[in-house]
Amino acid sequence: MEKLMEGLNEAQQEAVVSTEGYIRVVAGAGSGKTRALTHRYAFIVNELGVDPAHVLSVTFTNKAAHEMRRRVKRLIGGEQDTGFITTYHGFCVRVLREDIHRLFYPKNFSILDVEDQKTLLREIFEDMGLKMNEKTFKRLLDKIGILKGNTHYVQQMILRGGMPEAGESGDLDGQIIQQYLKKQKRVYGLDFDDLLNFVFVLFDQYPDVLAKWQDRLYYIQVDEFQDSSLKQFELVRMLAQEHENLFVVGDPDQTIYEWRGADPKYMVDFEEFFPGAQTVFLKENYRSTPEILSFGNALIKNNYFRVDKDMLPVHPPGIKAVHYHGKNDIQEAKWIVQQIQSLVEEEKARLSDVAVLYRAGYLSRYVEQELMAENLEYTIFGGFKFFDRMEIKDALAHLKMIATGDDLSFSRIINVPKRQIGRKRMAFIRQKAEAEGLSYYETLKKYVDHEQLQRTGAQAFISAMEELKERKKTLNVSELLQEAMQRTGYEAYRREDGDQERLDNLAELLHSIVQYEQTLGEDVDLDEYLQMVSLYTDHDREERADTIKLMTIHTAKGLEFPYVFVIGMTEGVMPSVRTIRQRKERGLEEERRLAYVAVTRAEKALFMTESEGFQNGGQKKYPSRFIFEVDEDLYERAGDLDPSLVEEAKEYIRASHRLRDDAPPQGFEKGARVHHPVFGIGTIQSIDEKKNNYLIFFDNLKAPRPISRLFKKLEKA
Ligand code: ATP
Ligand code: MG
Repeated sequence: MEKLMEGLNEAQQEAVVSTEGYIRVVAGAGSGKTRALTHRYAFIVNELGVDPAHVLSVTFTNKAAHEMRRRVKRLIGGEQDTGFITTYHGFCVRVLREDIHRLFYPKNFSILDVEDQKTLLREIFEDMGLKMNEKTFKRLLDKIGILKGNTHYVQQMILRGGMPEAGESGDLDGQIIQQYLKKQKRVYGLDFDDLLNFVFVLFDQYPDVLAKWQDRLYYIQVDEFQDSSLKQFELVRMLAQEHENLFVVGDPDQTIYEWRGADPKYMVDFEEFFPGAQTVFLKENYRSTPEILSFGNALIKNNYFRVDKDMLPVHPPGIKAVHYHGKNDIQEAKWIVQQIQSLVEEEKARLSDVAVLYRAGYLSRYVEQELMAENLEYTIFGGFKFFDRMEIKDALAHLKMIATGDDLSFSRIINVPKRQIGRKRMAFIRQKAEAEGLSYYETLKKYVDHEQLQRTGAQAFISAMEELKERKKTLNVSELLQEAMQRTGYEAYRREDGDQERLDNLAELLHSIVQYEQTLGEDVDLDEYLQMVSLYTDHDREERADTIKLMTIHTAKGLEFPYVFVIGMTEGVMPSVRTIRQRKERGLEEERRLAYVAVTRAEKALFMTESEGFQNGGQKKYPSRFIFEVDEDLYERAGDLDPSLVEEAKEYIRASHRLRDDAPPQGFEKGARVHHPVFGIGTIQSIDEKKNNYLIFFDNLKAPRPISRLFKKLEKA
């Protein structure tokens, strides 16, 4: 008990022991929300004696879930199953693995990522004799996403055995989408949207299933709650209905997924959704120096739609945040690398203490070049997707073939290495399979002696697969993978190919499976592993060597690093061109929150960099408004920034900031003299934050009037 409460302040302790009822913790970045949540989990298990099987703890990324599991294990010890420390998708997979048979799907259904979706679409296009390109893919995937915005299609497809209308009747896209759904069903594949939708339909159709899960999950807690979408919110709300224990933590200022449906209102209006809910505030910041914190606080204050909450630093003073301005991209990159080198030499920093964060993947290129030139090791998280790489997908497809023998995996590996089963023979297999309702693999087995398949590697492939399926019973996943790579000739083929990077990646995959087996400490079942891994995104890979970390800001969410470089702090990048063009205050605020998330990752030092030049679209580059917005006393400037460029930049920002809608007014202070188009001149007597009103005493009127702060026609007198 004492150990659990060690290193927690009073408010955190309160959060930890508040186990019953609806509770939210609202607090800024680095205030120890995640830490409180982790300790609360351990408290429930250790001090209340509740089995982890009854505690659901949802986090945002697999990496965060992994990290939380690791910490919880340290606190609760032992070999308990912590499988309910997971993501929303991970939780849905668990539910479906247990109950999807009620929707007539097998429990080892497969999970489709974007590449798999494209493969299905490509097959459809081929069958229909149509051409396709990246744009067509995107359009169709978007349309499919829209169709899957609600659960009607699941009801229709699974329960009524029909096909949903997709698009106008006779519309080509509509036909393709129907074909797509059919294929998806044939391979029992669920994409990320389906996972949540299937769970909803399952709970809706079978109250006994819902009741079982409600009953089982006595305690539910959610990290990064501000980024929950409506569906995700509905899911936890529904699950918590029986025991009425729901604990959420978050920071509305860190909502960065609005573009994907996140809505901070579930966090902000929590008490309206759950009357009687308790709120705990955390005020101390344990992450950053006072200087970094002041910068972050000053930046986010520019957001209008928020509740003010300053953080108090716990750490002693350090150095001011730095803004570096370079003459071009290369100079910017060189400066960053020099700084890193001096951090290593003078501050004895390890490379892994340094993170380089950016808005979008392409921005890392120059920094990468310089790092390579200086022989500094780095790892990119999130840029190229580890699990999207060809060799990794191939390797996993081998495992999937062993587990389920699904068509997608079959198509992927049947001719890698070459087995003389190319397009024509594949078309033969596909046609037979569809006509006879068999899987491709079953078809291959059935027709292996057919003249179409003679003089191919079909027989050898079948023998290898059958043998591997036998071996599955005795080997664990990592051993099975090694065996599969050898037995099918895949490894030899990669060796001949001679691409060392691909071989390294395969070794890395094996290493990650071994680690996975070790963390879970149980016999990991192949199906379970495959479902887990298909939820992975790149940044879930375990870190190994001492290398500099490069990643997007979205990926860095919830994490912290001693030294942080936020690069590309340029108008048109942050805020993005799109946001600037749309001229909507809401959009701009989301961009500012993104900048806030970035700068609040830093513990000891924060460097923000940008440089001159031109954007892809030809627009001249200027330093981001998010830098100018902050009082100049709160940071230092490095590099050579011409005062005339500053003027030009400010003019550009002013011009682009004429907002179209929902813009807050200039934000008058109490006592300001203002002009109203009807009432004339008056003085602001007070400001009602809650109602978002000014109370204004107009010179010509006898009593004050409440005027909305959003009223645009109020001007400075
Ligand atoms: P974010 O909003 O970025 O997710 P957070 O509120 O979840 O931040 P944590 O990651 O939990 O913050 O904590 C930030 C850092 O402060 C961590 O290194 C954590 O270990 C440390 N910390 C949290 N609480 C305390 C405490 N009471 N005493 C000392 N250190 C603490
Ligand atoms: Mg956190």
